[in-house]
Amino acid sequence: MRIISGIQPTGEPHLGNYLGAIKRWTELQHEQECLIFLADLHAITVYNEPGALARTIREAAATLIACGIDPNKTVLFDQARVPAHAEMAWLLNCTARIGWLNRMTQFKEKSGKNRENASVGLYSYPVLQAADILLYQATHVPVGEDQKQHLELTRDIATKFNTDFGVEVFTVPEPLIGKAGARIMSLRDGTAKMSKSDPSDMSRINLTDDSDTIAQKVKKAKTDPEPLPDTMDGLKGRPEAANLVTIFAVLANRTPDEVLGEFAGQGFGAFKPRLADLVVETLRPIRARFETLRAGPAEIDRILMDGAVKARALSAPTLAAAYKAVGLPR
Ligand code: ATP
Ligand code: MG
Repeated sequence: MRIISGIQPTGEPHLGNYLGAIKRWTELQHEQECLIFLADLHAITVYNEPGALARTIREAAATLIACGIDPNKTVLFDQARVPAHAEMAWLLNCTARIGWLNRMTQFKEKSGKNRENASVGLYSYPVLQAADILLYQATHVPVGEDQKQHLELTRDIATKFNTDFGVEVFTVPEPLIGKAGARIMSLRDGTAKMSKSDPSDMSRINLTDDSDTIAQKVKKAKTDPEPLPDTMDGLKGRPEAANLVTIFAVLANRTPDEVLGEFAGQGFGAFKPRLADLVVETLRPIRARFETLRAGPAEIDRILMDGAVKARALSAPTLAAAYKAVGLPR
C-alpha cells in the first residue's frame, strides 16, 4: 500500500483538518508508506500574497510535524519543489474531459457567482490533484467527504489514459475507507464545513490558537437555547449542536451517544466549558511543538528540500512512462 494526501498551505490548519485528515495521517505513517504534500501549486489558483507564501508553506509544514507527522517516516514535501506535478498535470489536462470538470461541485462553490472571472487553474484544480496522486502510483488516498468527487475523477482520468494509450501507466487509486475521519462543521454555521478559507476566524479553531482564544471561540459558537437530548437522533435539525457534540466525542474518544448520556437535560452553559477544556488540552502540546519549530525555519526548509528530493526520485519513472505513452521524446 502506498498512501498520498495533501493540504493547502493557505490560511491556518484547523481542528477540522486535524480530526478529518492530519490525525489519520500520523497513524497511517506507522503502518504504510506515506507521502504528504503541501499543495502550494493549488494554493495559487486564487490570488495569494506572494510575499507571504514561503512563510505559510513553512508554517503548514511546522504544523503537520507538530501534529505528529514524522519526516523520517513520511515523505513530506511541497509541490512546487517537484516540477513533475506541473508537467503531469499538463499531460492529464489533455486526457480529462471538459464535461467531467463541469460536474465538479467544489469549483462551483469556490468560483461563486463570478465564474467567468475564476482562474483556469481553479477550474482544472482537480486535474492537478489527479497528477499529485497518479505520479506516485499511490494505491490508496484517505479522502474527506469534500474530496470524494475529485478522487472519482482521478480514477476516471487514470483509466482513460491507460485505455487511450494502451499501456498501464497509472495505478487506479482506491479511497481509503476505514475509521471515517470526522467531518467538522463551522462554529458559525452547522451546515457549512469548517474551512481555512472561511473569512470569519470565529468559524474555526486554528491548531495554533492559544487557550483564551479557544475558550472564546467555543463560548461564542452558535447554538440554540434547547437542552441536550439523550441521543444523537434528538439533535436532528440542530446542526450546530450536533457539531459540538461530535467534536466533544471525537476528542474524548467516546461515541456521541455516550457524551449525550452524560449531558442529557443540560444546556450549553454546562457543556461548552467542558468542550473548551478538551480542545485546549488536545491542542496544547501541538501548539508548544509548533512554536519551537517555528523558531527554526532553516530546519523546516531542510526537511522540505529533503522530502522534495525523495519525491522527485519516486515520481520520475511514472512521468517518463507517461511521456513515452503519449509519444513525446524527451
Ligand atoms: P480551503 O478552505 O482552503 O479549501 P480546507 O479547510 O478545506 O481549506 P484543505 O487544505 O482543502 O482544507 O484540506 C486538507 C484536508 O483536510 C483534506 O483531506 C480535507 O478532506 C480535510 N478537511 C478539510 N476541512 C475539513 C473539515 N471541516 N472536517 C474534516 N476534514 C476536513
Ligand atoms: Mg478544501
